[in-house]
Amino acid sequence: MIDLIGKAAMLEMLAEESAELTHAALKLARKYRGENPTPKSEMECIDSLTEETADVLLILDQLSSIISDERVRAIKAQKLVRWKIRMGGD
Ligand SMILES: [Mg+2]
Repeated sequence: MIDLIGKAAMLEMLAEESAELTHAALKLARKYRGENPTPKSEMECIDSLTEETADVLLILDQLSSIISDERVRAIKAQKLVRWKIRMGGD
């Protein structure tokens, strides 16, 4: 797909889909908090979050020529360790 639409357009799609994922995450958090009611059910919120997650992952797959899977895995591992330390874990 990236060969058809180009890297810039794919990055724009990533930004759009990331914004939709952000929106879905905030909606589900709002549902869980129950402080600011939403007409959506919890299952609808989870479905939206799942769909937007798939959209973002699909675009990231298309950006494999720019984003190194190996480097992403290494950064994730480093950040997980840092996060656990900050949370008082081992
Ligand atoms: Mg989407």
